[in-house]
Amino acid sequence: MDIAALDSAQVLRENLLKWICFCFGILASVFTYFNLFINDFYSLGILEGVFAIYCFYTFNYARTRKFQTWQPLLLCLCIMLLVILGTYLAVVKSGLFVWTFTLPVLFYLLLGCKRGFYLSLLLVCVQTVVLMNKASLAPFPELNLYLNMSFSYLSIWVIAHIFEASRAQFSERLENLALFDPLTNTGNRLAMNHYFEVELVDKINLFIMVLDLDYFKKVNDEFGHDVGDQVLVEIATILRETLNKGRAFRTGGEEFALFIPDSNQQESYQIAENIRVGLQSTAINVGEREISLTVSIGLAAYRDGDSLKQAIKAADEQLYYAKEHGRNNVSFDSQQYSAKLEQVS
Ligand code: GH3
Ligand code: MG
Ligand code: MG
Repeated sequence: MDIAALDSAQVLRENLLKWICFCFGILASVFTYFNLFINDFYSLGILEGVFAIYCFYTFNYARTRKFQTWQPLLLCLCIMLLVILGTYLAVVKSGLFVWTFTLPVLFYLLLGCKRGFYLSLLLVCVQTVVLMNKASLAPFPELNLYLNMSFSYLSIWVIAHIFEASRAQFSERLENLALFDPLTNTGNRLAMNHYFEVELVDKINLFIMVLDLDYFKKVNDEFGHDVGDQVLVEIATILRETLNKGRAFRTGGEEFALFIPDSNQQESYQIAENIRVGLQSTAINVGEREISLTVSIGLAAYRDGDSLKQAIKAADEQLYYAKEHGRNNVSFDSQQYSAKLEQVS
């Protein structure tokens, strides 16, 4: 599963940006024609013409590539400027100011809650000043126009805000469900893939640990599966607390993979040892019981060009060695590490 599928906001905004640019491009072209050749409203016509060209350019860009973060912002600012200018230049009875009401929805959908809020606020302030400075609001009675405009704008603003806030919250919950192991709240394999492929900037000095609890079946057999589950929760907490850099993921029943970036042989080995000794000397309290456990750890240095699968396999081989050699120990292939260092230099 591709983690990008979980980013619903990005997909929504990509589609929205593309089709809004297309629609506004056509609309702005029509307005350009009317203002230049029929209404003789040259200043607005030229601005609309430039805007139409920008819309078609962005439409084409969004069709073929991932858009840049400034692109939706620039589009919103351009539309806002056009609506404000239109309201300022045209007479009220032309109804151009009505476009103001479409904008909060657009701002929230394209820019999210925070930017959407500020742009909607800015728009309402500027439009109020523009309308108040109009010589006449005819054919509308002044008070009626102000009241109706204020309430309808506010309603649209509130609805857009609630919708976007709920959408963002829902999307985050969905992402958490997909990426975190519900028992231990540690990242799962999908999160691990994403961390390795996307978040780990520098893999050159990366060390990978695979950790497996020793004789964990016995805990289940002796105390029951529920107690076993609670032990796993405690272990995950200890791992997160011990790891002062990098990330831990639950890759199987009682197996975890730990990534330590920007490290070296001594440091990563020391971290592994700290985890091992820490777990050995910590009695895990589950209800009235105290459970002691040990852990075996396989440690491997990441070799440039290796896939995640290959990197985990290298650490797994060390784990196997640690299990074979009495458990409760850390195994690291220093010969392989020396070979890697030679390869780098
Ligand atoms: P070894 O030292 O060789 O690793 O011995 P082990 O008993 O830990 O053996 P192994 O790693 O193969 O067994 C894993 C056991 O972990 C099997 C299963 O009973 C238990 N287990 C796996 N997932 C869970 C889980 O989510 N909750 C609980 N309570 N137990 C689990
Ligand atoms: Mg196991
Ligand atoms: Mg085990």
